Order: sequence, then structure tokens, then C-alpha cells
Amino acid sequence: MSRDIPKAYEPQQIEPRWARAWVEQQLFRAEAKAPGPVFSMVIPPPNVTGSLHIGHMLEHTEIDILTRWHRMRGYNTLYLPGTDHAGISTQRVVVRMLAAQGIDYHKLGREEFEKRVWKWKQEYGGTITEQMRQIGESCDWSRERFTLSPELSRVVMEVFVRLYEDGLIYRGHYIVNWCPQCQTTISDLETIHEERRGNLWFVRYPVVGTPEYVVVATTRPETMLGDTGVAVHPEDQRYKRLIGKRVALPLMNREIPVVADTFVDREFGTGAVKVTPAHDANDFELGKRHDLPEIDVMTGDGHMSAAAGKYAGLERFEARKRIVEDLKAQGLLEKVTEHTHAIGVCERCKTIIEPRASTQWFCKMKPLAEPAIAVVEQGDIRITPENWREVYFNWMRNIRDWAISRQLWWGHRIPAWHCQDCKEIVVAREAPAKCAKCGSRKLEQDPDVLDTWFSSALWPFSTLGWPQQTEDLRTYYPTTLLITGYEILFFWVARMIMMGLKFTGKVPFRTVYIHPIVRAADRQKMSKSKGTGIDPLDINRKYGTDAMRFTLMMMAAPGKDLIWSEDKIESSRNFANKIWNAARFLFVNLDKFEAGGATLEQLASPEVRAAAPFRVRGELPLVERWIFSRAARTAAQMNDALAEYRFHEAAHVVYHFVWRDFCDWYIEWQKPLLTSSDREAATAAWRNIFSVFEAALRLLHPFMPFLTEELWHRLPQASTAKSIALAEYPAPKPEWIDEEAERQFALLQETITAAREIRATLKIDPKRKVAADFSAGDTHVGRLVEEHSGSILRLALLSEIRLIPRKQLDSKNGLIRSTSQFDMRIGYSEGVDVAGELTKLRKEKERMEKDLELKRSRLSDETFRSRAPAEIVRGLENTLSERSIEYQKLLERLAQLEKTTSRSDSGSSANV
Ligand SMILES: [Zn+2]
Ligand SMILES: [Zn+2]
Repeated sequence: MSRDIPKAYEPQQIEPRWARAWVEQQLFRAEAKAPGPVFSMVIPPPNVTGSLHIGHMLEHTEIDILTRWHRMRGYNTLYLPGTDHAGISTQRVVVRMLAAQGIDYHKLGREEFEKRVWKWKQEYGGTITEQMRQIGESCDWSRERFTLSPELSRVVMEVFVRLYEDGLIYRGHYIVNWCPQCQTTISDLETIHEERRGNLWFVRYPVVGTPEYVVVATTRPETMLGDTGVAVHPEDQRYKRLIGKRVALPLMNREIPVVADTFVDREFGTGAVKVTPAHDANDFELGKRHDLPEIDVMTGDGHMSAAAGKYAGLERFEARKRIVEDLKAQGLLEKVTEHTHAIGVCERCKTIIEPRASTQWFCKMKPLAEPAIAVVEQGDIRITPENWREVYFNWMRNIRDWAISRQLWWGHRIPAWHCQDCKEIVVAREAPAKCAKCGSRKLEQDPDVLDTWFSSALWPFSTLGWPQQTEDLRTYYPTTLLITGYEILFFWVARMIMMGLKFTGKVPFRTVYIHPIVRAADRQKMSKSKGTGIDPLDINRKYGTDAMRFTLMMMAAPGKDLIWSEDKIESSRNFANKIWNAARFLFVNLDKFEAGGATLEQLASPEVRAAAPFRVRGELPLVERWIFSRAARTAAQMNDALAEYRFHEAAHVVYHFVWRDFCDWYIEWQKPLLTSSDREAATAAWRNIFSVFEAALRLLHPFMPFLTEELWHRLPQASTAKSIALAEYPAPKPEWIDEEAERQFALLQETITAAREIRATLKIDPKRKVAADFSAGDTHVGRLVEEHSGSILRLALLSEIRLIPRKQLDSKNGLIRSTSQFDMRIGYSEGVDVAGELTKLRKEKERMEKDLELKRSRLSDETFRSRAPAEIVRGLENTLSERSIEYQKLLERLAQLEKTTSRSDSGSSANV
């Protein structure tokens, strides 16, 4: 590749090119037989209906950084991508799409509908994986998996059958959360409980054979049609005499018993409760204890069923209205009160769920949970940050059986066949020809499919070829690490641990890292409707994917939420620009240097490269000792930080090293040498500068893969290599650490910084050279400054630096900066136009006073304070206090200058 480099850094030109090249070259393809320790990760499979959001961007960046980091350190690395078939979500999307075309999916029938979903998947299901390619994730695309592919479906069947044979899967009649919109069971975890205001209706149930009635309170009057009893507390004096008697269920012409049960809460409502076993979880249990029948008065789509008598066919809330009216008309409604209570809502469609008794398939969890608790207790799996361990234990110790069947068409159909003749259920890997019990050939497969999370639970081993003992499974399982969000710790992480242990006898991963979440500027979760959401791909297009990755990582401290703001990404983009411009400077000047006959191409040889740092006539200059020491320290800090998921720390360390140490100090310091006529010294300087730059790019590569790849190919030492992604990650080199050099160079930096600060305070024309007096506390310091005075004068724009004893250094006619090791003074007379400066400062003083006055009066305005958002008020207060400090400094400067003029006016130097 040519060394020519465009003037401006344009990620839009660079990134798509590399993203394509990496995929085409299969650069990240894993080889099970490859040497080296193994690092493997499976992606948390995003929904096939999804597209990348900011949470993915963070999660995938962390995964990709650790993958690239390990790959560069010689690990046999696998990052396995794939998607989840996402049962309910996908079915909803396709049902809606068909509806928009005027097609009722019920009429299509199951088989045709499934075909349509596969067709949809073919056309639109690749969005998110395409986006992952665009942002350059270093996955092995040859191993991409889909939870509903034939291979993974076979794994699901195998697991289901084995669990069934082990007695861990059973059919049960239970109250489940039913979503009338999605028309399927949803798990407790997918049900959101919302506090809502509703009513409590008090209904009179006449006691049979007496003129009395008993009053029950209900929040859902429509369910009374399915009542099969009334319950009271056995010690409730108000009702003792009614126990064993019968009441007439209003509107239904049915007599039901009054039973006594200690479960009844005497404080709620009237202390007497209606019992509806088919529509309430507590009533279901209570009904079982008292042998009360279940009457399901609803249909799957939230209407009243045939069992609801004259209300059959009505929508559930319409039925509620009619029932209340009828009760009122018959004088059976005693009163209505307001009542706030928790209502279960479907997470996906927000419809109010209906607790409903039905026959479902269940998986017994206790026996699976026990070993899964043990492996985390014993540290076979590390969950980090640590606080999530307790959350995990708490959930696992209170685990309930998992309702795994869903009334959908899109998913893994349950491998169970019902004999139409003898009702036997046959569970098998393949469709059986006849009933195992009666031999009948009239078998029908169970219509339900498995909960999407069932196949996700198998993901770490199903993707690697289990139940075959494949090379991949032997090499990459257990996987090394899982990075995911806290919200699927139960849905997914816990179930993977249980299933992994059950079927492979091994943990599915050694470590679980729970990443933080990205919040909007108002610290709330990002929300599209509030306008605080962002599309990461828009941001990537505008600033570059590298800038986006770096921004997120600068904030990604374990256990701490990220607060998004657009100015943060501007600073990352500036960082990328800075690197680009530094590279451009180096490339352009190297071309000039090489035009003189020298060449740095020999750096391409590993032996030559290993000889860094390069000496001149046996000597290594201080600045070289310093930069190589800093490089070694940066490598050590980054390796340590990445090993503990401290992405923010690694990002800050490399940012400081590249921007401050390398660009601002090292390149600036070396500039004269790069064009020196001393060819030997110049060549060594060039070799060192490119050795450090190349190492810096490798250090940065996992964070900014595109920019580093683009620049790396232009380096003299990388002419034949395929990709920086396959180069070695800089190891900490202890032999480069040089404490003495770091101390000495820091002193030179402080000297230059002190001179620059005085110049800035005195507002000395940036082009004008001035002299400085310097007094060292220690002779070493003085000698060091003398030795490097050439660089100091150049970088601080000094005409000379005079070493004088401290007692000769006074603040008369000059400004002093002091550190523990030295004092430096620059005089006013040196190039300062005192009169002009005074006029400027006085004008500035007036301007600042007006500004301060304005801000103060605004802040003392009560109307403003009470109406403006708190953040604005706080912001203004902060600005005011900053401006006040600046104003104080201005006054001091003015006072100093005024003294100077009065002295020169009077010609006296006394009385300062
Ligand atoms: Zn729903
Ligand atoms: Zn049979």
C-alpha cells in the first residue's frame, strides 16, 4: 500500500472498505486445530427481527475488544455469531405484515404460515448481522448459527426427549399468564406488573334458603361467571354460621358452596371471597384443596366462552360492563369503590394479561438449579461485578417450574404425539408411525411450540455441534467468557448454566461479565418516544464507528451506567483526527528523508524490529529512554485493565499515551532530529519513532480497529503483513521501564510547561521569544536543564534560560512559577507592551464586570429560579463561580502590571 495519505481523516471512506475486506478474507475464521490457549465466546443471539441499538453497540464493542485482544496475544480465538428465531416477536411481525396485505394468517394454515415466516426471515432477517459486519465485529461468519436451523432444531429435540425421559418434563394443569393479544402463554418474566387505578365491586351472593346474602369484593366481575365457591376464614366470627351452606351465583343460576380456608385474608374487602379456580392463581390452589371444579369462561382471544351463558361471545371488558349493569338492575351490587392494584401486562404488546388455567408443558427446575447454584458458589463460574452473584442465588433458590409451551406456530414444535384413540402421549425424536400403547396410527403432533428461551438455553453447546463430540466442541467448550446485560441473567444466563451442566457435564462458560447500560443525558433509559434514543448507526456514519466505540469505552466502567452525550463523541473523533494528522506528518517527512537515500524498510524484518530501541553511537538519548518506558507502562496498564473488564481505564491510558506522550511531546521533541544532517542520528530517531508508533497502533487496535488498520499498512515495518488484527499485542516489556528517565523527562516537561504558563498569563505574543531565569533546588536539576536547553528553548519559545541562584530570583518586574524542584521567572520587560496590555486588561475587566453583574442578577431573580430547569440554574451557578475566579486572577494581573508602570513612571524599584 502506498504511503500517500489523504489530508483529512474520513472514516466514511475507510470503514466500509475494511469491513468488507475482513469478511471476504475470512480473517477471523477460527481453526479448532490451531495452536495456543483457547479464547471462545458466543454472542448473545439478537432477535432475528432486531436491528442494532445502543445497548448492542456497547455489548458488541466489549466482546469484540476482548476477542481482538486475545487473538493478538496468540490465543486460538472464536467469536461465534448468530441470531435467535424469537418466537413471539417474529410471529407478531409477520402476522402484522400479512394483515397489512389483507391476509388473515389463521386462514393460511400452519404450514403455509411457517413458509411465509421463513420467507420473511430470508428477506429481512439479516438486518442485524449485516449491521454487525458493517461495524467490523471480528466474528467467524463461517460458524454463524440460527436457533431454528435444522441442526439446532435437532439439538432441541434431543434435549427435550432426554429431559422427558428423565422425568423432568411433564404436562400440568396450571394457572398461566395468558396474553389475549399474542394468544399464547407468557412467562412471569415477560409479564410486567403495573400499578393501576381500578374499581372494587362489592357483589351480593344470596344464601340459599334464607333472605340473607354474603357480599364478596372483586376487581374482575366478569370472572364471577366461573365461580365455583365462596371462601371465608374458618375463625371469622362474621361468617362461621355460613360455612357448609350454599349460595346462589348471581346471573348464572348455579348454587355454589361456602368453604372455610385459612388462606382467606379477613382484612380484604368483606372478608368473604369468590373462588374462580380457572382464572386466578390463588383460587386455583384453593379450589384444589376443596375439590371445586374449574370453569373456564373465556376464549383465547379474550372473549367470553360458551360457559359464560348469555354473555358468551362478548369481549371481556364489554362483558364486565354488562355484568355490572345487570347486577345493579337486580339489586345485587352493594357498592363500588376506587382501588389501586397491580395488573399484569404483556411485555411485548402491553395487553392486560388474563390468568387462566390451562394444560401446558413444564420443566422441573429444582433438580437442575441445585448444581447450577453450586458451580457459582464454588467459583467454577465467576459472575462479575460481584453484586450480580446474590441476585443470581436469590432467583435460583426460589426457582419455580418453567412453563415451556407456547401457543404459537413459529418455533420448535414439541416432539410429542397424541393418540386419538387411547389418549396416550408419545414423545420421540422422530414422528412415530403408531401409538406405543394401542398401536393406533391416528397420531397428532402437539400443536404447541417451545418457549424461545428453551433453544437459547442450549446455545453454547448447540452451536458447537453437540451431541456429536465435534472438534469444535472439544476445543471451544466450555466457552471462556459471556458478556451480556443484566436483564437476561435469569431468562438466559441461568438457564444456560443449568442446561450446560445437565447435558455436557461442564459449565457453559467460565466467567459472566454483566455490562452496564447506556442512559440518556437525563439519566433515564433511552427512549424513542421521549426523543432521547439514538441510532448508533447514524452516529457511526457521522463520526465513525471507531469514535463511537472509543466513546462508549471511555465511559464503560464495570457496574456503572454510561451517560450518553454527543460532545463526548466529538472528543473521540478529535482523538482519531489527532492520530491521523500525526501519521500524516510522519509519512510525508519520512518520504522526504528517504528521498535522500535512506530507507526504513528493514524495520519489516522481525529481527531488526526486535532490536528497538535504536541507539546512536551506542547511546540512547533521554527522550527515547522515556518514550519506550512510557510505552512499556501503557502496555502493562492496558493488559491489566482489559483482564478485569476495566475498559474505561484501558481507553484513558491509551488516549493519554498516544495524544500527550507520543504526539504532543515525543514527536515535537524529535522534530529537528528527523531532518538532521547527522544521518546516523536521524535514522535512529526515525526507526524509534516508527517503532513506538507501530506499537501504539497495536495497543489501540482493539478499540479503534478501522483507523489503526488503515494506518498500519502504510508503516515501513508492515509492508507484507495481512492485518494488524493478526499482529502481536504489545506485551509489557519490563526491560524498557526506566524510572530514572521518566523522572528526568518529567522535570523537563514541567520546566517547559512552567514557561508556557507564564507566557500565557502575561499574554506574550506567541511568536516572540523571551528570556527566562531559572533557579534549581538541586545541582542535578540545573545540569539536566542545561543539557537539554536546546529543546527547552525551542519548545517553550525562550531566547535563553539563565541559571541563577535562588536568592537572586525575585518577583520584581516579573512573574514566577515554582515547583518543588525549581523556580522560573519571566520578566515583564521582555517583550511585553505594558501600556497596551494595561489598556487591554482594563477593557477586559469592564466586560467581565458587566457579565458577572448580568449573571448575578439573573440568578437572584426568583421567577427565573423557579421556572428554569434545575440543570440550567446549576449550570449558570457553575459558570458564575468560574468567571469569578477568572475575574480575581485578572485583578491580580492588573495589580502587578499597574505596580510595574508606577515603578517605571517614578523610576524607582523600591517598595514592591
Ligand atoms: Zn401480548
Ligand atoms: Zn393409543
